[in-house]
Amino acid sequence: MKPFLPFTRPSIDEESIAAVADVFRSGQLASGPKVAAFEAALAAYLGGNRHLRVMTSATAGLEMALEVAGVGAGDEVIVPAMSFAASANVIARLRAKPVFVDIDLHTRNIDLDRVPAAITAKTRAIMPVHFAGLPVDMDGLYGLAAEHGLRVVEDAAHAIGSTYHGKPIGSFGDLVVFSFHPNKNMTTIEGGAISTGDALAAELLEQYRFHGIKRNAAGEVDVMFPGAKSNLTDVAAQIGIDQLRRLDGFNARRLDLAGRYFDAFQGFTGAVMPARGDSGHSWHMFQILIDFAARGMTRVGFQKAMAERGIGIGVHYPSIPSLKFYREAGYREEDTPVAARVGRETVTLPLFPAMRDEDVERVVSEIKAVLK
Ligand SMILES: *Cc1c(COP(=O)(O)O)cnc(C)c1O
Repeated sequence: MKPFLPFTRPSIDEESIAAVADVFRSGQLASGPKVAAFEAALAAYLGGNRHLRVMTSATAGLEMALEVAGVGAGDEVIVPAMSFAASANVIARLRAKPVFVDIDLHTRNIDLDRVPAAITAKTRAIMPVHFAGLPVDMDGLYGLAAEHGLRVVEDAAHAIGSTYHGKPIGSFGDLVVFSFHPNKNMTTIEGGAISTGDALAAELLEQYRFHGIKRNAAGEVDVMFPGAKSNLTDVAAQIGIDQLRRLDGFNARRLDLAGRYFDAFQGFTGAVMPARGDSGHSWHMFQILIDFAARGMTRVGFQKAMAERGIGIGVHYPSIPSLKFYREAGYREEDTPVAARVGRETVTLPLFPAMRDEDVERVVSEIKAVLK
C-alpha cells in the first residue's frame, strides 16, 4: 500500500523549526521584532514601495480592510459567488450586503463583464478573489473601480507569489489581503497580511488589529475606537520569514506540477480543466469539474473511492449562495448558475511542493479508473 497522498501539505523545514525554538528562548513571543522583520521582508518581496501589516488571518484582514475602505451597515460590496465563505462573511459581519456576481467557468474568477449590472448607488467596494492563484484581469478590475468610484479589497488568499503582467499581486492595487493558513502557498500556521500603498491606511490597520490603540509622540497610549485583537505573534512571524524565503521555490514547483497535470489529462474529455493562465499563476490549487449527476455518482462517493486508493480529494468551494445562512437571507443559487455548477462539480486534486512527479500520474490514472 502506497502512503496516503493528501490534497495539500505544508513544507516546514528543520531550519524553520530551529528558528522558532530560538524565538521561544528569546522570551519575546507576542508581536515584537519578528513581526517587524516579517513585514519588512514582505514589503521587500513586493518591490519595496508598499506598506505591509500582518494579522492573525486573512479573514481578520479582509474585515479590517473593508472597514478602512469605509464599508459599513447598509453598504453593498460586490463579491464572486464561488469562493470560500469568508469572502462574503466578512461583508455580512459589518452589516453590509454581499452582492454576488457569477464567475467564469474556466478561470473560476469573477466575471467582470457582469459587474456593472450589479453596481447600485449603495455599492462601496469590489472584492475579487484571485481564484486558485490565477490573477483576475487587473486592468479591467481597476478600470471599473475608477469608472464607478469604488474601493477594491483584493481577496488574495490564494495569490501570494502570483504575478500579473510580471508584477506581483500586492505590489500595486488598493487593499490586498493574503492568507498564511497552512493550506495556502506559504504559512504562519494561522496568519494574514494586507498590502497597501497608503501610509494612512496602514496606520489605521495597526489600530484595527490592536484594540484601536494609538501612541502619541510622547509615547502615551490612547484608544481611538474599539479595535480588534488580531495581532500576529513573533513565533508565527518567524515561520513566515522562513516560508517567504522559500516561496518562489514552492511556487515554481507548483507550476511544474500543474503542467504535469495538464499533460497527464491530455485528450481526457471526462472533466473540465481549469484555465491554464501563464507563469504568473501561483497554482494554490488544481481543480477539475466532474458532472457527477450525469455519471449517476456523488462527489462524496468519488472522494471515498479515491481515498480507498490512497488519494485525498478536496472540495473548494460550494457556491456561497448555496450555504444555509445565505439561502435564508434570500439569495438563490440559480441567480449565479456558473458558480452553482462549479460548486457542485469541483474537486481539488493533490498539489503541494513536496509531491513527486509520479504522484501526478498516479492521481490522474486513479481518477480515470474511478470514473470509468
Ligand atoms: C483561506 C481563504 C480565506 C481566509 O483565510 P484565513 O487566513 O484562513 O482567514 C479567505 N478567502 C479565501 C478565498 C480563502 O481561500
